Amino acid sequence: MPPFLILNGLEKSFGDQTVLRDISLEIEQGEVLVLLGPSGSGKTTLLRLIAGFEQPDEGQILVLDEDVTPLPPERRNFGMVFQHYALFPHLSVAGNVAFGLESRGVPREQRLSRVAEVLPLVDLEGFEDRRVQEISGGQQQRVALARALAPDPRLMLLDEPLSNLDPSLRERTRRELKSAIRRVGITAVWVTHEQEEAFDVGDRVALLNHGRLEQVGSPEELYLDPQTLFVAGFVGRASTLKGTLVAAGQVKLGDGRFVGQGATWPVQTVGEVEVSQEVVISLRPEGLELTETDRPDALAGEIVERQYRGEVTYYRVSLEMGGDVLVVGGTDRAAIGSRTGVALRQAKRPARAFPSPSEDSK
Ligand code: ADP
Ligand code: MG
Repeated sequence: MPPFLILNGLEKSFGDQTVLRDISLEIEQGEVLVLLGPSGSGKTTLLRLIAGFEQPDEGQILVLDEDVTPLPPERRNFGMVFQHYALFPHLSVAGNVAFGLESRGVPREQRLSRVAEVLPLVDLEGFEDRRVQEISGGQQQRVALARALAPDPRLMLLDEPLSNLDPSLRERTRRELKSAIRRVGITAVWVTHEQEEAFDVGDRVALLNHGRLEQVGSPEELYLDPQTLFVAGFVGRASTLKGTLVAAGQVKLGDGRFVGQGATWPVQTVGEVEVSQEVVISLRPEGLELTETDRPDALAGEIVERQYRGEVTYYRVSLEMGGDVLVVGGTDRAAIGSRTGVALRQAKRPARAFPSPSEDSK
């Protein structure tokens, strides 16, 4: 079987602004792919290209090997859920769900039975006659999903479906939209700018930055094996230390100390880095620990901030050599203002060193 959806070398500009560059991606049947990226990175534009509301300047969109790029949206048979509920306030829940069927000329009896089929999928059985103003924002988004599912689309596109919801409704609605999509088994592209949502919902996550795909992979791959400094910083929490690559796998830090090969902290370079080039080492808070200052592998510093999170406590340590790092503390409560050492928690898991971003790419 060919991949369900193939994006092949998509490019899009508006005027002289290039918004998407060389987007290539394959999505399997039944897969939920999350398109993650900061605001303005091109997520909505890419979703609109897939939907057919915009045409790419270059590249193709294929569904099961069929080139759908020239097809208008209504001939692609995709469903869409937008950030704004975009429901018709004067219609009932059933009227909203049946709307797309009516415009396709589906007879009344069939519309009613289809409405009765899809409402349970979004856990809204018995809500047929409710007015949409009477139900919560989370329920409205589920009606929007039911409406999109009613014509039995082959792909579901969701653009930040939770971002207009009250924070208190977001997690529950996320769970319900996610489980409805799983229940139906439909292939989906779900757009968000929130990493936690992306990790929760996506089989794989495609991280977009300035219109380019930085990395596509499972949440674990993005978190544990980021391929760029941007991925390391956008996904999870990370601190950075600046240094210079002095030999393969060996980095000289700001204080003249060496880490990496032959030294106490293993370092793995990622991407193209040459000797004498500046690098940025990215460190996860749980990859570091507070230690005695006199340990040979410890960087000395002072605890400047404590963030208690219940399941974990973060300490921000201002390092004597300059810079600061976030560290997950142990069970002891460490005091702000006290001197401490910081070391890699697991010598087997090397710290990652990325090429230092050039000034113009910042
Ligand atoms: P995101 O959804 O990731 O926030 P968008 O795809 O909405 O990003 O926008 C990406 C960039 O493209 C932004 O700089 C935006 O201003 C620009 N853009 C999007 N749509 C248009 C348009 N129709 N005309 C001109 N510029 C656009
Ligand atoms: Mg958007």
